[in-house]
Amino acid sequence: MNYPLDHSEIRDAVTRLCSDFPGTYWRRCDREQAYPTAFVEALTEAGYLGALIPEAYGGLSLPLSAAAAILEEIHRAGCNAAACHAQMYTMGTVLRHGSNEQKTRYLPGVADGSLRLQAFGVTEPTSGTDTTSLRTTARRDGDHYIVNGQKLWTSRAEHSDLLLLLARTTARDQVKKKTDGLSVFLVDMRTVVGKSLTIRPIRTMMNHATTELFFDDMNIPADALVGEEGKGFRYILSGMNAERILIAAECIGDAKWFIEKASGYAADRSIFGRPIGQNQGVQFPISRAYSQMRAAELMLKEAIRLYESGENPGEEANLAKLLAADASWAAAEACVQTFGGFGFAEEYDIERKFREARLYQVAPISTNLILSYIAEHVLGMPRSY
Ligand SMILES: Cc1cc2nc3c(=O)[nH]c(=O)nc-3n(C[C@H](O)[C@H](O)[C@H](O)COP(=O)(O)OP(=O)(O)OC[C@H]3O[C@@H](n4cnc5c(N)ncnc54)[C@H](O)[C@@H]3O)c2cc1C
Repeated sequence: MNYPLDHSEIRDAVTRLCSDFPGTYWRRCDREQAYPTAFVEALTEAGYLGALIPEAYGGLSLPLSAAAAILEEIHRAGCNAAACHAQMYTMGTVLRHGSNEQKTRYLPGVADGSLRLQAFGVTEPTSGTDTTSLRTTARRDGDHYIVNGQKLWTSRAEHSDLLLLLARTTARDQVKKKTDGLSVFLVDMRTVVGKSLTIRPIRTMMNHATTELFFDDMNIPADALVGEEGKGFRYILSGMNAERILIAAECIGDAKWFIEKASGYAADRSIFGRPIGQNQGVQFPISRAYSQMRAAELMLKEAIRLYESGENPGEEANLAKLLAADASWAAAEACVQTFGGFGFAEEYDIERKFREARLYQVAPISTNLILSYIAEHVLGMPRSY
């Protein structure tokens, strides 16, 4: 089936859905660090979180461009998809590398929302960005694996049934390449939480439902392994381009929200007897952020075009994420400055969105690591780590 390139009908429908979740809703969740359950339920009921799951498993079989349009519009409307975006794409690892049995057992539930697969455990306290140094181990014991270790920043774990977990199955000094010996597991947390799995929430500067996980001899069935043992790092990497593209779309949505707010306020607010937007000192940062956003949007479209034509657009997906995160941050900064003191007042939502937008310089991949990818893989400079 062909879809209009810009998915305008989907965009309009998402905007309508988001209008039921105004600033007052997000402010309350933010103040209480509460999970936006009603918002996530509305997206689930509309089927959007199953957008990328094939129809054969109950999803909408939509292309990546449609998922990007959904997430962009959520952010453009002042909402925050971080509470549930991973339900859209974490299943990609199971879809690409899982067995038929795993796909039929899990994907229909993920598509209709009765099963939540939106927790992704890779980062650890001591290894951070250096993923292959992770210390969580999974040791085979008959028809089970025994997992021990700790994960940090595992977002939405308290609001997920399943966890996609990366753990070491062969010690690092026993593999040829440090990327070997890591394996991916689809863990049903419902059977182990509160026993061999402890989940501790982490309070953060924005409302993000993130946690740390502790595995203490956690016993999981051997058929929780996704794909082949030892090849997990490759499986995780294979989903990175899609994730970067989708996060870039959210940043574009944020940038548009900030730019619309800032330019509207600059035209309305009168100081010294004329609109503040008449001053070029106020106009230019907003115009610059707009230019950055448009350039990032073009790179995002190129990344999506290549992805949908079956290519592996590492360069474009990374650039889109980098440029979009920079554009949203420039727009956030311009917006706060344009609003002056009101930029700091909770009731305008700008300070909340400002805090939320800051994350994308660091996660899911930090700006430095993208620059390092460009230096090494695009420009052919020596590897720095
Ligand atoms: C709110 C939030 C939610 C998250 N959700 C998840 C999740 O659901 N699942 C998950 O697995 N992870 C998650 N993360 C983790 C996130 O992916 C990491 O924080 C991020 O990848 C950076 O890793 P780190 O925090 O360990 O920083 P570190 O690796 O300790 O790095 C610290 C700083 O040093 C820089 N740095 C490190 N090495 C180099 C180098 N060689 N060259 C240049 N600069 C370098 C980094 O760019 C960074 O700025 C989340 C993080 C946050 C804050």
